[in-house]
Amino acid sequence: MKNREQARQKAMDGERLSLADALALYEDNDLLFLAACARKMKERKSGKKVFYTVNLHINLTNICSSNCPLCAFQVAAGDQRGYVMEPADIAHILEKARTMQRLSEVHIVSALHPDRPFSYYVSVVRQVKEALPQVDVKAFTPVEIVNFSRQTGKSLREVLEILQEAGLDSLPGGGAEILSDRVRAIICPKKASATEWLATMKTAHQLGIRTNASMMYGHVETVEERLQHLFTLRDLQDETKGFQAFMLFPFHPEHTELGETYHLQRVGAWEDMKMLALSRLVLDNIDHVKAFWIMLTLPIAQLALGFGADDLDGTIGEEKIIHAAGARTNTGITREALQQLIRETGYEPVERDTFYRAVNDTGEGAETCD
Ligand code: SF4
Repeated sequence: MKNREQARQKAMDGERLSLADALALYEDNDLLFLAACARKMKERKSGKKVFYTVNLHINLTNICSSNCPLCAFQVAAGDQRGYVMEPADIAHILEKARTMQRLSEVHIVSALHPDRPFSYYVSVVRQVKEALPQVDVKAFTPVEIVNFSRQTGKSLREVLEILQEAGLDSLPGGGAEILSDRVRAIICPKKASATEWLATMKTAHQLGIRTNASMMYGHVETVEERLQHLFTLRDLQDETKGFQAFMLFPFHPEHTELGETYHLQRVGAWEDMKMLALSRLVLDNIDHVKAFWIMLTLPIAQLALGFGADDLDGTIGEEKIIHAAGARTNTGITREALQQLIRETGYEPVERDTFYRAVNDTGEGAETCD
């Protein structure tokens, strides 16, 4: 009881929470109280602004050597559903991208193809940057970076430096799932370990590459493992200050081995909002929390703006990974629709680039939003 009251007081005052506080707040289950505290913290960081961006996602291949039980996107080499984008396919997408008004970011994530060499990925970054020099290239999760390192024998630093030289601007935050060896041994035993994921982010931050962070929840993890994940991210952020934004992914069990083996259902909206508000409160040193609408659905992402999120991510264009796992959202949305969703909540829509600089009507980075 004492613990719960103390935790509520700290949340209300915006004080730094401990793991015991976060657990007490989780168990307290007072969703509207958490929302009020999280919104207060959001407004201290970004006032009435809610961000969105005009971006384009490219998934280069779905052929993967990792075969994670959590995944609905990957197929094995030789499977008829497999694809790999060749330079001509990418050129075609970039040609279309040139006509997009104020496109500010190209986001590239893919499966771990067994044969494509590191040089293929480096040349994709170069190709995108040459075609769209004003656009930020956000590419490759730590899982992919670790795979490049394993493939080539180069250190994480060397891999990142080569990509940076080719035009990489930032890293997305995916592949973190739950940063626990127990959980990873069940959901993704072959891909980058928790230690490797963190080491990649730390190295990127040391090189001046800003990144995002994420968590995928609602599968075999305990609540304590979920919350511990947030504290692990908070500790790294205290050290490097390189995370720009955090996002939550509820696990979509459809078409996955993990879902089938453990008879999993997607968690409900109550759990989504509770985790979102708690994340906003625990991650007091990360400026932005995203409601990634493509994972959450648009109505829940809009609701998330009342629970501490200050970013709806982007227009996205074409997205394949989450939809392979049964997400029923559209694969893209217009900027006007995103603006409308934000205005309905009483917040002010701000179009941003990758680094949270407001983008004005001429398409140039104008001012820092923070
Ligand atoms: S989650 Fe990523 S690494 Fe794992 S199988 Fe899917 S695409 Fe491959």
